[in-house]
Amino acid sequence: MPATVPVPAIRTSLPGPRAKAMIERDAAFVSPSYTRAYPLVMARGEGAVVEDVDGNLFLDCAAGIAVTATGHSHPEVVAAIVDQAQKFLHMSGTDFYYEPQVRLAEAIASIVPIDGPVRSFFGNSGAEANEAAIKLARYHSKRPFVIAFLGSFHGRTLGALSLTASRAVQRKGFGPTAPGVFHAPYADCYRCPVNRRPDTCQAECLGFLEDQVLVHLVSPDEVAAIVVEPIQGEGGYLVPPAQFHQRLQALAREHGILIVADEVQSGMGRTGRMFASEHFGLRPDMVTIAKGVASGLPLGIAAARAEVMQWTPGAHASTFGGNPVSCAAALATIRLLQEQLIAHAAEVGDYLLDGLRDLASHHPLVGDVRGKGLMIGIELVRDRETKARAIEERDAVVDEAFKRGLLILGAGRNTLRLSPPLVLTRDQAAVALKIIDESLGVVERTHGHQSSA
Ligand code: PLP
Repeated sequence: MPATVPVPAIRTSLPGPRAKAMIERDAAFVSPSYTRAYPLVMARGEGAVVEDVDGNLFLDCAAGIAVTATGHSHPEVVAAIVDQAQKFLHMSGTDFYYEPQVRLAEAIASIVPIDGPVRSFFGNSGAEANEAAIKLARYHSKRPFVIAFLGSFHGRTLGALSLTASRAVQRKGFGPTAPGVFHAPYADCYRCPVNRRPDTCQAECLGFLEDQVLVHLVSPDEVAAIVVEPIQGEGGYLVPPAQFHQRLQALAREHGILIVADEVQSGMGRTGRMFASEHFGLRPDMVTIAKGVASGLPLGIAAARAEVMQWTPGAHASTFGGNPVSCAAALATIRLLQEQLIAHAAEVGDYLLDGLRDLASHHPLVGDVRGKGLMIGIELVRDRETKARAIEERDAVVDEAFKRGLLILGAGRNTLRLSPPLVLTRDQAAVALKIIDESLGVVERTHGHQSSA
């Protein structure tokens, strides 16, 4: 991938012949439950550039679902991985000790937005981090119930799935999920569930939780935890007002309920702060972390106030959790984030948000542009007055972008998400804007929406 080649560079029809052959093999042997938005077969990656098996170059604004925080195969992350791999690959941190896990627990304690001393449990994924958080919350509080939010995504293992309320297909056929979970509406300021206006909002959307759920369904003194995404990810990249988190935090404190901030997608520098909670003054009792933390190696972490994480040996563990190679990758990732990438994400994110708001002025399909740092959602609507969801159109824009060499994904039913590697340059962001502009234009024409461009 020579630096001089302009990106994107699409040289074959998509999928190209090698990609096509690989997809046929995949179809025969790989689980059909995976959702593939378009036929990308990756061969190599560097920074925010992805090369497919046919030599096509794509600009990556998906980052393997918001994972490759430091970009694809950042040389310093790869060096840390190689160095650790040459020493040893595994020794189960749940049965023995090794320095990378201890160092990472120290590093996590120093960066999470939790007050006081912090301890960490290590697993392999976001779902496992949330499983640990739910178990710990019940264990610590001796209370059985958990509150989560509609639209939220917390993972697909059965415990985490009982919190997840993102898309019905993710639950269909798997019920009953774990009992004892109640869901309340999340703050969606573009489609306020209680018809308030942002300028006078007092987070009245929490009224349903306060006046209905906690009155008619469950007694607050039986609720172990409220699990909340500081910015809702899979649900559509929804950014709540600070008062939502403030009011939630006050409610939790009043009733001795633990707050678990699921920062699996919003954490690790993506929003221009190490954790999205920081934007809202949220001080959770636990933070769950995965995705970006090890730049692509599997790692999930449940960090908690040390006084909450008091469980006896044998209560919870995972053979591979806190794998030394993943820990080494995470330590290198955290260093790179702190040295430059968090500030960079904030700056390039602002540039992208401004550019997208400009695009919104001449693309009627764009209903709302929102986000923090490089966690950006563009909600598409058929009509700005009725806000009718442009579901097919959203999928068509993702497809048009792919054809032009830009990798993006959807979130929620009708939102485009931009979650690029945090190394995305301003020039690359400008290219992404141009392709989104073109793709919106094509879809507006083919779907009969007037563009004023
Ligand atoms: N929590 C959030 C907020 C997520 O976005 C995701 C995945 O998208 C998860 C948890 C689950 O993570 P994993 O797929 O690693 O289990």
